[in-house]
Amino acid sequence: MKRDKLIFDLLADEQDRQEEGLELIASENFVSKQVMEAAGSVATNKYAEGLPGKRYYGGCQIVDEIETIAIDRAKQLFNAAWVNVQPHSGAQANAAVMLACLQPGDKILGFDLSHGGHLTHGSPVNYSGKIYKPFFYGVKKETGYIDYDQLKEVALKEKPKMIICGASAYSRDWDYAFIRSVADEIGALVLADISHPAGLIARGLLTDPLPHCHIVTTTTHKTLRGPRGGMIMMGKDFENPWGLKTPKGEVRMMSNLLDMAVFPGTQGGPLEHIIAAKAVAYGEALSDSYMKYVLQVKQNAQAMAKALVAKGYDIISGGTDNHLMLIDLRNKGITGKAAEQALVNADITVNKNMVPFDDKSPFVTSGIRVGTAAVTSRGMKEKQMEEIVDLIDQVITNPESEQSLKKVRKHVHALTEKFPLYK
Ligand code: PLP
Repeated sequence: MKRDKLIFDLLADEQDRQEEGLELIASENFVSKQVMEAAGSVATNKYAEGLPGKRYYGGCQIVDEIETIAIDRAKQLFNAAWVNVQPHSGAQANAAVMLACLQPGDKILGFDLSHGGHLTHGSPVNYSGKIYKPFFYGVKKETGYIDYDQLKEVALKEKPKMIICGASAYSRDWDYAFIRSVADEIGALVLADISHPAGLIARGLLTDPLPHCHIVTTTTHKTLRGPRGGMIMMGKDFENPWGLKTPKGEVRMMSNLLDMAVFPGTQGGPLEHIIAAKAVAYGEALSDSYMKYVLQVKQNAQAMAKALVAKGYDIISGGTDNHLMLIDLRNKGITGKAAEQALVNADITVNKNMVPFDDKSPFVTSGIRVGTAAVTSRGMKEKQMEEIVDLIDQVITNPESEQSLKKVRKHVHALTEKFPLYK
C-alpha cells in the first residue's frame, strides 16, 4: 500500500506544533512513547465484545490478559473494588452510568456548565439534558467556591435521582462527604466525574471521592496521562437500588448493571489497543516518577496562579488546589475569544471559557482556562511557570501588536526547545 503522505505530513506538522508551542489547555497532556506505541498497536485489529473471559468473539485470549491487567492496575491505583476500562471517552462513561441508573425523565442535579461543569452533567444540548430532567448548582459569586447551600436546597426541593459532582473548569477540591450526606437524605445516587484531577486524586493529592460517591467516572487522558478514553469505578459494589433481579431471581449488583450499560448498552466492541495503552499508563501512574510528576503539576499550578495574581489577573476563587485555573479577563479589557486567538498567534494554546455569572456568550466568553499538566510533562517547573505568565501577560496587554507577538513567539520556541517532547 502506498504511504498516505498527505496524512503523515499533517501528523508531522501536528508533532511540530506540539513540540514548539506551549500547551496550556487544562484537559490536554503528553503521553509517553510507550503509551503511544500501545495505542498504535496490533490490538486495534481485534474485536472483543464482552468482558475478559466472557467474550462474544474467538481469539480473545491475549486481549483478555491485557484488559485484566488494565483493570487490576486501575483498581490498585484508585483503591477501587470494581472498574470497567472500556468506555471510549469520558462522555461515554457518563452515558453508561446514566443508562444504568436512571429512567428517561428522571431528575438529575449537576454543576452548572457556565460555572465550570461539563456538558454531560445535564446541559440541554447534550443527551444528559435531553433524556433526563436537569437541575443545577453553581459557585458562590463572592468566593468562586461551590455553593453547597444551594446544592442542598435544590436537592431537597427537587429530589433528583442522581447528584453529579466534578467539573471541567473548577480549581478547588470537592466536599464529597457533604454531597453524599445530602444524597442520603433523599435516596439519590452520587456520581463523581473526576476527569480532570484523576491523576492528583489517584496519588492522594486531593480528596478521594471513592469512599463517598457511589460511582466515579474519569477520562484517562488529562492529568492521568493515558490515551484518550474513559473509565468507570466503584469503591464498593452495591445491590441495585431498584430491586432488579435476573430470571433466576438473583439480585443484580450495580457492577453488573454498569458493565451491561457499557456493552451492549452504549458501545459495541471495546478498543483493545486503547485498553492496552490505558494499562501502560496506569502502570506509569503507579510509579514513583509519576508521584513526583503530579506533585510538580500542583506546585506549578500554584506558582502560575500566584504569578498571575501578582500581575493583577482575577482568578476565580483566588487560586487553585489542582492543576488548573480559570481567569476572568474582564478587568483586562479583553474577551476570552480575543485572548485565545492572540495567545494562539504566539504559539501559546489555551481555551476561552465562560466564567461564573458571565455576561458574554459561550462563543465569546470573559475568560480563559489554563492548566499545568502538559507543560509539567515536559519537565517544566515553577521558574518556567513565572516565565510563561510573563509571556501570557505580554500577549494580553498587547494582543494586536505583530511585533510583540513575534517577540513572544520567539521566546516560546526558545523555552520549548529546552524541554523537548518526543524528538
Ligand atoms: N467530564 C468532564 C468533567 C470533562 O472535563 C470531560 C472532557 O473535557 C468529559 C467528561 C468528556 O470527556 P471526553 O471528551 O473524553 O468525552
